Amino acid sequence: MENHSDIAIIGCGPAGAVAGALLAVRGYSVIIFDRDSHPRHHIGESLLPASMSILQSIGMDSHYMQAHHQGKYGARFFDPVANRLEVFGFALPGQGVEPPTFNVMRETFDLQLRDVAQQRGCVIHENTAITDVEEEQSPVKLHSESGQTYCCNFLIDATGAAAVLAKKLRCREVLPDFGRLAIYNYFTNIPTTESADPFERQYLTMHLIANGWIWFIPLRDGSTSVGVVLKREAIEKNVDLPGQFWAAVKQSPTLYDRLSRSTPLAAYRAASDYSYQCDQKVGLHHLLIGDAAGFLDPIFSSGVHLAITSAARAADGIDALLRRGEPAALRQYQADMDAGLRVFRAFVERFYQRDLVRNLFFSADKNPVMRTAIINILAGHVWDLSNPLIAMLQANKPAEIRRVGVASAQLEGQQAGPAASYREANVTTL
Ligand SMILES: Cc1cc2nc3c(=O)[nH]c(=O)nc-3n(C[C@H](O)[C@H](O)[C@H](O)COP(=O)(O)OP(=O)(O)OC[C@H]3O[C@@H](n4cnc5c(N)ncnc54)[C@H](O)[C@@H]3O)c2cc1C
Repeated sequence: MENHSDIAIIGCGPAGAVAGALLAVRGYSVIIFDRDSHPRHHIGESLLPASMSILQSIGMDSHYMQAHHQGKYGARFFDPVANRLEVFGFALPGQGVEPPTFNVMRETFDLQLRDVAQQRGCVIHENTAITDVEEEQSPVKLHSESGQTYCCNFLIDATGAAAVLAKKLRCREVLPDFGRLAIYNYFTNIPTTESADPFERQYLTMHLIANGWIWFIPLRDGSTSVGVVLKREAIEKNVDLPGQFWAAVKQSPTLYDRLSRSTPLAAYRAASDYSYQCDQKVGLHHLLIGDAAGFLDPIFSSGVHLAITSAARAADGIDALLRRGEPAALRQYQADMDAGLRVFRAFVERFYQRDLVRNLFFSADKNPVMRTAIINILAGHVWDLSNPLIAMLQANKPAEIRRVGVASAQLEGQQAGPAASYREANVTTL
């Protein structure tokens, strides 16, 4: 039947493109709609090591990524008040070690993902906004803005923050205590300082400021993405974007000095009210992936990782349902995604409410085991229950818990995969 496919995906960001690519290679007919056309601007440039195997599985291996994107060897947290820098390395730069992950220019990265999906056999309709879906019936019907109707056996909502189905089904819960407003721009010709770290461009650096934080993400074309993230109480009425951006950056004086002497490349942009979650990620004939299923906060760069991982897990679940008639696979998908989100959410909550970075990160160097556990979470390995921090965060246990584990492997300077094993010991609070 014309306009009928096995699977329809709304949204061709990282989630939709990866899900499409993985399902098309399994022999399904896949149609993807996006209201926009690539290349298009999108914020969210810093990836995590745990995503790399999925990218590799669709042909975007380390060599490919190195040819197009900036290698990232870890995450650094800088406290300008204490003048203290804490580095959580996934690997050591400058020693011929392949980058464990990348900072990407999203225009390029998302375009590359779309092309991969197309090469794998997906039919992609850009500039096609889907305005209504009838997801309860089979086949599912989709209606486009231009009046076309499409049918599919299974629907994936990958619409990002637009969250078409979550809004329709009213299962979108805003998380008011996380970051509420981000203001950002791109800079070039940023001068270095005498004390500058020669490997600064190989990291993502977060500057901690009152009521928020600043990201500093070097990109491969020599530019740097800089954004300030503010909590609700720090947001002025009638926000003046450049004014509020520079007022925040001023709280990190060296960064302020360097950025003041650099060249902004674009107009200041903002993203607001982006932290939410949806607890109903699957239905009989549909599921939600990526930001459409929930987005926490950019602090630990979890967005694209969760988008890509949810896409891969959704592809497995849908395949099990359509090929083997296993609806339990969709429930498993929901349970898996809830588990991963719970870890990141608990981590983000502790960042905003319990000063996680100062209390735990800046004291973690005293304890190599805790460093390993933190590095593994920062690398995106949030489903590794042998990580004692994850077990605690999953259970959302209170801060009084004092027994966490000791990793048998010291990962600093090595590739950060899930730690091989941990043994118990009394260490610290979380
Ligand atoms: C301030 C900020 C900073 C961030 N920083 C990072 C970071 O450093 N690292 C990181 O990993 N993540 C970051 N993120 C999050 C990251 O950008 C997202 O998690 C990621 O883009 C999610 O991918 P996605 O495919 O789910 O959604 P998207 O990339 O948003 O793609 C959704 C697509 O759906 C399309 N669409 C929407 N509605 C419709 C419709 N009705 N019909 C057809 N198409 C539609 C859109 O055009 C879009 O192309 C950040 C987010 C914010 C807000």
